[in-house]
Amino acid sequence: MSVDPSFLSNFFLVLTAFGGAFLAALWIALVIWTYRDIRARARDPLVQILSALLVAVLNLPGVLVYLILRPAHTLEEEYQHTLEEESLLQALEEMPLCPGCERRVKDDWQVCPNCHTKLKKTCHHCGKLMELPWNLCPYCGTPVPGMRQEGTSIDEALRDLKIGDASEEVKTS
Ligand SMILES: [Zn+2]
Ligand SMILES: [Zn+2]
Repeated sequence: MSVDPSFLSNFFLVLTAFGGAFLAALWIALVIWTYRDIRARARDPLVQILSALLVAVLNLPGVLVYLILRPAHTLEEEYQHTLEEESLLQALEEMPLCPGCERRVKDDWQVCPNCHTKLKKTCHHCGKLMELPWNLCPYCGTPVPGMRQEGTSIDEALRDLKIGDASEEVKTS
């Protein structure tokens, strides 16, 4: 069985047409992809046009060159990065300073690790941290030992202290 030569040439013509169309579409797609990608990475219009032109002229090798030379981070990523840095700096600035050595200390530290200045005291009843000038625990309402609440006599303050000590003895036994 012989193949019609005109059919064969038509077949190759169609094949070439499809191949050419595919290559042209790929070419355009690569240029569009590059343009979109560079627009997310650079604000300079000259850089944007040059990148698209590079791929338009060199096609696949151009994409390779573009991938090597393009900025590593998108503008969005850079923006997020600066936001993170700013919030970190802000958090650092909000950290309190040690009154002894002026170094930054954490809110929940009792003693400065650098100069050993006392920063906070603990409630003798519930163990929560309190500011040094406070006379009363804001968590459980227990007055600090030795600090009299207004209106109470020394005897009452001492009695409170003894009750506190007694309850601790009960816990340990
Ligand atoms: Zn210190
Ligand atoms: Zn307490």
